[in-house]
Amino acid sequence: MNEKANSFIDFIGMKKDLNNHTEEIVIKTMKALLQEPEYNNICTCHQCLLDIAAYALNRLPAKYIADRKDDLGTKIAKFENEVNIDAVSVVKKAIEVVSNNPQH
Ligand SMILES: [Zn+2]
Repeated sequence: MNEKANSFIDFIGMKKDLNNHTEEIVIKTMKALLQEPEYNNICTCHQCLLDIAAYALNRLPAKYIADRKDDLGTKIAKFENEVNIDAVSVVKKAIEVVSNNPQH
């Protein structure tokens, strides 16, 4: 591939089409957990939520999905089941760590 051809490739555009499905699972898990009474007093400011998500995402396997055609729905559901149990305990730990050491 020559340099000119390379300049037509939308490498920056790749980023928006690459989705780490683990992000969706973590956010969904956070949303569910933070509604529980035991987490009533947890700070849910933007910074703390990002810190909780980052903590959890750094400890769970990434699952990148390049497109959403074919039987991907089934694959996602299967992956979600496998990761879900882990996600709950990791997000619980993340909430505990961040709420004990908020960056503000
Ligand atoms: Zn906060």
